[in-house]
Amino acid sequence: MIHNFNAGPSILPKQVFEEASRAILDFNGTGLSILEIGHRTPLFEAVLHEACELVKELMQLNSDKEVLFLHGGASTQFFQIPLNFLGENEKAAYLDAGVWGTKAIKEAKAFGQVDVVGSSKDKGYTYIPKDLQIPADARYFHYTTNNTIEGTEMFHIPDTSVPLVADMSSDILSQQLDFNRFALIYAGAQKNIGAAGVNLVVLDKNFKATAGRKIPSMLDYQQHIANGSMLNTPPVFAIYVCMLTLRWLKSIGGIPAIEKINREKAERVYSMLDNHAVFRPTVAKEDRSRMNVVFVIDDPEKEKAFQQACKEQQFIGVKGHRSVGGFRLSLYNALPMESVDAFCQFASSFR
Ligand SMILES: *Cc1c(COP(=O)(O)O)cnc(C)c1O
Repeated sequence: MIHNFNAGPSILPKQVFEEASRAILDFNGTGLSILEIGHRTPLFEAVLHEACELVKELMQLNSDKEVLFLHGGASTQFFQIPLNFLGENEKAAYLDAGVWGTKAIKEAKAFGQVDVVGSSKDKGYTYIPKDLQIPADARYFHYTTNNTIEGTEMFHIPDTSVPLVADMSSDILSQQLDFNRFALIYAGAQKNIGAAGVNLVVLDKNFKATAGRKIPSMLDYQQHIANGSMLNTPPVFAIYVCMLTLRWLKSIGGIPAIEKINREKAERVYSMLDNHAVFRPTVAKEDRSRMNVVFVIDDPEKEKAFQQACKEQQFIGVKGHRSVGGFRLSLYNALPMESVDAFCQFASSFR
């Protein structure tokens, strides 16, 4: 059996793969493939509508929130956000807690002032900066809830009156959170929501562009809202896969249920690692991500042997990101407990 610990694109529920496969051949008994239907047909409109409604329901969003499915991945949001919301003479506060946040900062600097209110660069992003002083006159505060590459996660929403903007690409829908506190949430779909090629954006209607900048239509949130994510042809199949995955999440009890499972999965992996001297988790204990577990083996010989053993046992995607090295296990929503237990059993017997 293959155990898929890929960081993204990553594992999805088996039933999603099965249903998506059937829909490629015959979508809902129409005799048509999901790949050949028009996006402005009632067939697809129903898919998009259901996906949006499931997001609202699962995240318990209030009526001020707009749900969008956009192209360009999370990386497009890095510049689309400041393009819309950060004027040339305005400043935005950013947290520098990992590679993805650093990229967001770099993009924002092209549009306005960036005030980095905390950084863990000094220790290779192995912890989450605390006691943030977010200036009250910042247009927004941007942070990454889960640092996918380094394996740290921010479990609490920072206490500030400044509009909150969060990159939740790798931990969205994994735990309960007051999503209504955010002015804008975005997440590339390929980790916890569905297939690559689409981006979930949750935007508060009251968070408006004030810079008076000319914005190309495809990058203008207001135009996307006005056109219901159909300003142009949306990634039909990717949205369909999201809808199936959201349905699955609802069917197992939604976010409260998956959070319980996710806590248990992370607990089992970290306690196994903590109990075996050969493995060394790299990040501060209180900031350990429940989605991406990062650890190293300090002996290069053993590291190589472990890598090889993982391969032989079909533990896929466990190699750490090229910028960090070591190992990374991604424990996204769809990763079953059996894979966690199989890995723990295998790793705890490794000498
Ligand atoms: C994967 C990831 C991204 C990049 O997503 P793309 O869709 O490839 O642009 C950005 N932020 C975080 C936190 C991620 O995990």
